[in-house]
Amino acid sequence: VLPAICRSQIEGNLPEAIEPLWYDTPEQMVDLAPRADIGWFDQQDKQPMIAAIRLARDLKWLNTAIAGLDFIPEDLLRRDGLIITNGAGISSFAVAEFAVMGMLNIAKGYRQIVQAQDRHEWLHYAAGTRELSGSRALLLGYGAIGKALERMLGGFGVECVPVRRSAASGALGPDEWQARLSEFDWVIAAVPSTPETAGMIGDKELRAMGSEAVLVNIARGDVVDQAALVDALTEKRIGGAFLDVTSPEPLPEDHPLWSLENAHISMHLSALSQNSMFDRAAQRFCDNAHRFCAGDDLVARYD
Ligand code: NDP
Repeated sequence: VLPAICRSQIEGNLPEAIEPLWYDTPEQMVDLAPRADIGWFDQQDKQPMIAAIRLARDLKWLNTAIAGLDFIPEDLLRRDGLIITNGAGISSFAVAEFAVMGMLNIAKGYRQIVQAQDRHEWLHYAAGTRELSGSRALLLGYGAIGKALERMLGGFGVECVPVRRSAASGALGPDEWQARLSEFDWVIAAVPSTPETAGMIGDKELRAMGSEAVLVNIARGDVVDQAALVDALTEKRIGGAFLDVTSPEPLPEDHPLWSLENAHISMHLSALSQNSMFDRAAQRFCDNAHRFCAGDDLVARYD
């Protein structure tokens, strides 16, 4: 029997070979960690999660509903023999919808319309008159979020060009997209935060973008060089930025991004949805638990 630390009571059906050890609080999770062969670790606060993973020396499978695993130190991510599954895909539609909302907001100048309504003022002009239709988007990352975005944006008539880790996939490879930046109206970051992607959009890339082009970051703040972005927005070298994520988070009160009228900040809210992420995560955990016991490949395995 494999002891498995599991977040709260879940409805799903776990295999008999698994003995669930339920936790509700971060303290309970950390206390149970040394006993675990399997751990479903999920907490708002990442420190207890890291402590639990360190203490769980016999851990064979680590599961979390979080998609971006950049908060886990590299030595734990690469621990020999440890299988990791994450939340890739669980919130991809909610996140993609948020990106589309941001793009429409900027294209149509909706922020100015809302501000005018707040002042009870009837606008006689639109601050944004761009149509998405006929525009082009570079999708940096073509995983669950990138693919959801391509589907949605296709409906708006936006041509999407994907970027992946290998050009062999038919997408642009990690060294091929930079030279093409000037071709795009939208540059959308949907990659994980890794040593390879940290700062992948820096001063050079921002200077290569068109003057009307908009940067959308729904990935992680550190994928974009924040200082270079502040400069590009201040000097109006690009058309604007829609940032669900920033570095650091929360953004300090006196950070220059807050005051830039061409920066749209959505405070890492994009994954929230009326469809409970927890239910989807629990379903995936139970399905994966059956696969794990049968020795089959797991869904959303992190490599
Ligand atoms: P996936 O793992 O499904 O997809 C990641 C994509 O990024 C893949 O296409 C991968 O390439 C590509 N990629 C990775 N490294 C590079 C690189 N160096 N150069 C080019 N492409 C690269 O992840 P998701 O789509 O589910 O999520 C992406 C990220 O979004 C998450 O890691 C997380 O950080 C963030 N996220 C943010 C949320 C929010 O609330 N704002 C919510 C959920 C996720 P390949 O196809 O070749 O593997």
